[in-house]
Amino acid sequence: MLTVRNLNVYYGTIYAIQNISFEVKEGEIVTLIGANGAGKSTTLRTISGLIKPKSGDIEFQDQKITDLKPHVIVSKGLIHVPEGRKIIGNFTVRENLMMGAYARKDRSGIADTLEEVYTRFPRLKEREKQLGGTLSGGEQQMLAIGRGLMANPRLLLLDEPSMGLSPILTEEIFSIIRTINQKGTTILLVEQNAYMAFQIAHRAYVLETGRVIMSGDCQILQNDPKIRSAYLGEI
Ligand code: ATP
Repeated sequence: MLTVRNLNVYYGTIYAIQNISFEVKEGEIVTLIGANGAGKSTTLRTISGLIKPKSGDIEFQDQKITDLKPHVIVSKGLIHVPEGRKIIGNFTVRENLMMGAYARKDRSGIADTLEEVYTRFPRLKEREKQLGGTLSGGEQQMLAIGRGLMANPRLLLLDEPSMGLSPILTEEIFSIIRTINQKGTTILLVEQNAYMAFQIAHRAYVLETGRVIMSGDCQILQNDPKIRSAYLGEI
């Protein structure tokens, strides 16, 4: 569904991504893990058209999207839920959700998706009229994911959904991500919390200073001694 080939991204003269290649197949949850500054967010931002790569190719559903504008990429069903949530504080929960559907024209479809989002996140339904900025951190994360779902994504890029959340809320968000995937949305998940990412992802790519240093099935990677000591906190 998504193929990234030999991607190179620079900020000025400093590279952030060096020759990264990976793929996400339809129906999968694939995770990119790595320490701070490894280049995970940069990879997602490049896929969604927010940063122009120096070289390399990105294909989505067998179509090259490397040079397309972000809104065109969104209209193809590739939706990015950014790090730090980026919800609009003085819009209500409902207004924030409706923003996610801005590129859609199917009014009844939008109403159906809103109902689905409320079913998946009952807390958002309860707080429909509350201002986004007054939600708790976990609720804001739910709102950010809900807004992403409003676009009816085929592929959802999730950047650090566990950031700033308690272990219990992280579990809750990850279980929702798994359900979203089981209902048919393919997911590319960026996480620093490798332990949680391995619980739900099928495959992982490990990034270190802008390069892929390892990849494979999560079941296998999580037993690798290097992964265990570097990313799963084991000695
Ligand atoms: P984190 O987990 O801390 O969010 P990350 O793996 O997502 O890290 P990126 O945010 O992609 O990492 O950053 C990769 C590298 O690019 C880092 O060295 C970072 O300092 C640098 N970088 C990111 N954004 C910019 C920018 N706008 N200008 C210059 N350098 C940047």
